[in-house]
Amino acid sequence: MNTNFTIIGGGVVGMSLAWGLLKHGHTVAILDGSDGSFRASRGNFGLIWIQGKGAKAPHYAKWSRLSASLYADFADELTEATGIPLGLEQNGGFDYHFSEESLQKTVQSYERLKQEFDGDYPFEILCGEDLRKEEPTLGPDIVAGILHHDDGHLNPLKLLRALQQDVQQMGGTYLTNRHVVDVSKTDHFTLTCADNETFHSERVILAAGLGSRDLGPKMGFVAPLEPERGQVLITEKLPRMINRPSVTARQVDEGGIQIGATNERVGYDDGTTIDGIAFLAAEAIRTHPFLAKTKLVRSWGALRVMSKDGLPIYQQSQSMPGAYLVTCHSGITLSAVHGKLLPSWFDQKNDAPNLEKFSEDRFRL
Ligand SMILES: Cc1cc2nc3c(=O)[nH]c(=O)nc-3n(C[C@H](O)[C@H](O)[C@H](O)COP(=O)(O)OP(=O)(O)OC[C@H]3O[C@@H](n4cnc5c(N)ncnc54)[C@H](O)[C@@H]3O)c2cc1C
Repeated sequence: MNTNFTIIGGGVVGMSLAWGLLKHGHTVAILDGSDGSFRASRGNFGLIWIQGKGAKAPHYAKWSRLSASLYADFADELTEATGIPLGLEQNGGFDYHFSEESLQKTVQSYERLKQEFDGDYPFEILCGEDLRKEEPTLGPDIVAGILHHDDGHLNPLKLLRALQQDVQQMGGTYLTNRHVVDVSKTDHFTLTCADNETFHSERVILAAGLGSRDLGPKMGFVAPLEPERGQVLITEKLPRMINRPSVTARQVDEGGIQIGATNERVGYDDGTTIDGIAFLAAEAIRTHPFLAKTKLVRSWGALRVMSKDGLPIYQQSQSMPGAYLVTCHSGITLSAVHGKLLPSWFDQKNDAPNLEKFSEDRFRL
């Protein structure tokens, strides 16, 4: 049955949901903020990243892995529909270690996840020549790298552009400069924007990133979200120097080396600092010494959308049934499950993923 959905927020989360709902035959309008909004989807690191995730929450590791496994098809569908290649590479990613101690600590947590997945958690430890054969530009301080085969990366701006284009090609309505300030419900939802313009809808999804923190409580959600700043750098374009991504550096499809990212609790300040840039540059040069001779062309800061425990939230409102909150820290990694699997959760189909562990109940205890 066709249902009319309005999605608040046109970042990668809102757009992925819109894309999936349109594919499932629904009518979708997206009300998005303005260029002054905080927009993690335009400032992130572009990793489809599995390793290290869900060490204490295996259901999150499982959900992220499911998304990684759907990514190639998802990206192909988007590229075929829009002609926009996403620069997707999923040949694994490295977590580098400067000491045996940190390596062992990480490996122990991966071994626990491996047990949880009955042995299906594909990582290997590479050292010495084996490692440098894979990544010849690594510096002498690196003692080992953990290669996790589920990991990958893409160009996140192209992902967002392709989603925006395909959503509109499929008949979705995408409206910008619509800052929703209130949502009420009678037999349908009424959304009111800052300029008093109103919109009506059968169902509403709140996917406004950090904007969900203010709107959430008005819709019956806890929405315990906090900003976490990440500063990021990018170098001049270079020939291929880095084969696989790591959380320290990756070579983007256009040739620049993206270096990241800080983790800072500084409120809503999305600026850059000399200390932050110096820290990132030093780590990156220690990992790939050739970077000392490359030119930085840009640095920026962006705010992560962090729930209290860092895990996604998928919740239908108890006081306003038909309203949903969807938010997560790893919106690039989870874009494929959001687009391909969440529509059946909204439709309460038999094959819907079980998302109970991601509900807000965990914050109400
Ligand atoms: C530095 C950094 C590095 C990251 N690296 C990665 C990575 O490598 N891999 C990964 O998977 N994830 C990464 N992330 C996280 C990822 O970018 C986010 O999870 C994702 O972009 C969140 O998307 P979103 O749509 O929820 O939020 P946003 O992109 O912030 O979008 C929210 C949208 O809602 C709109 N909005 C807000 N309030 C309202 C309102 N009241 N009414 C209407 N519209 C509203 C805004 O205008 C905005 O367009 C990173 C994030 C940062 C900051």
